[in-house]
Amino acid sequence: MKVFKFGGASVKDAAGVRNLASIVEKESGELVVVVSAMGKVTNLLETLCNAYFYKQGTTESVIRQLREYHGGIVRELFPGEAPVYGQLEELFAGLEEIARGESSLCYDYEYDRIVSFGELISTTIVSAYLQSSGVSNRFMDVRRSLKTDTSYRNANVDLELSRELCREAFDFRGTRVYVTQGFIAGTRTNQTTTLGREGSDYTAALLANLLDAESVTIWKDVPGVMNADPKEYAGCEVIRRMSYKEAIELSHFGAKVIHPKTIKPIQNKRIPLYVKSFLYPGEPGTVITEVDEPLTLPPILINKRGQCLLTLTPRDFSFIAEEKLSRIFAVLAKYKLKLNLMQNSAISFSFCVDGGGALFDAFIKELQEEFEVLYNRDVRLITIRHYTEAFVREIIGENVPLVEQRSRLTAQFIIQN
Ligand code: ADP
Ligand code: ASP
Ligand code: MG
Repeated sequence: MKVFKFGGASVKDAAGVRNLASIVEKESGELVVVVSAMGKVTNLLETLCNAYFYKQGTTESVIRQLREYHGGIVRELFPGEAPVYGQLEELFAGLEEIARGESSLCYDYEYDRIVSFGELISTTIVSAYLQSSGVSNRFMDVRRSLKTDTSYRNANVDLELSRELCREAFDFRGTRVYVTQGFIAGTRTNQTTTLGREGSDYTAALLANLLDAESVTIWKDVPGVMNADPKEYAGCEVIRRMSYKEAIELSHFGAKVIHPKTIKPIQNKRIPLYVKSFLYPGEPGTVITEVDEPLTLPPILINKRGQCLLTLTPRDFSFIAEEKLSRIFAVLAKYKLKLNLMQNSAISFSFCVDGGGALFDAFIKELQEEFEVLYNRDVRLITIRHYTEAFVREIIGENVPLVEQRSRLTAQFIIQN
């Protein structure tokens, strides 16, 4: 059995859905097809959630946009009458019913309940289209078998329970192909949860682990994992083979091409991960796998924007020692901020975190109780794995980094935007 994952970009229009079908058609074995919301629908659903919860704007206009966008795609795929129209109507009626009601007090709970419609709608369309083009398949609501705790918006999967339920649900009796949702899941009491933005890659990896898949393929708008984001760096090349460890490092430093949680579930079972182009499906792409021999990799560039660089100095003139550090880490944990780089001297501690966020000002304020806080919003963290001096020169150029750090394999620079 294989797992194929199609992201938002691959199903952003009718041509994308047709292309997905042509890729799936070529596969003759058992297959689980994991699909994200179409195009930028998750962003639109976030807007809807804010309109509903915070009364920012009207929910009607956002639902209208969602109806128009999906309606356009479906009319192109199904020119005549088709059961899919009724199925979509039911989903939109459900969404409208939520939007008309009173929200609970928990934003994250409401968020998951609303945002999950993106994947429910896309998989309804994809499953119906595959069926109509001769690929018999079963639609599976993943929320019934992928079980999590109640940490809405970033739920933790109960692997034991999910394994049991997934194996029952995806038993391949009477079907060879399943179509199911990425990103969303459910609690034991059937409340909807999500796994964090961009989490569909992670769903694909989880299902592969739970169902002992032979491989996972994530179909992207790029020819594979490259040594930089091709939208930002012109001279990049595809990396044909990469170890799990390297892939974890890259996604951790912020390479957007794979979600950071994706690798662990497949590494544990040594399931290879293919990253391939949905535009050129015949090309080999990248394989991420167990690699015993050292691989020669080109310098890999990862650009993380929207960072904030902070420098803390204790107000009481004490040194930056364990006690102070543990205080700083406690505040970081409290505000769920991801630390991306740190450096300390005797009396100061500098670090870089993802900037912005609604609670950022409260975070700074709390630190100011104990520390003199200098901060630089909107800086860029540049990470170069397998760096060479020539490559560093090419990327950093005349910029004078605010912070620079190098280990044997990795060089990092914080640059003012
Ligand atoms: P999905 O459609 O699965 O959600 P994403 O948009 O999340 O896909 O990821 C694909 C994008 O990742 C590409 O369009 C590319 O701009 C970006 N990207 C960032 N770093 C890399 C890299 N090292 N190699 C390839 N693509 C990268
Ligand atoms: N649709 C979700 C998002 O946009 C999940 C995903 O695409 O992976 O974040
Ligand atoms: Mg994505």
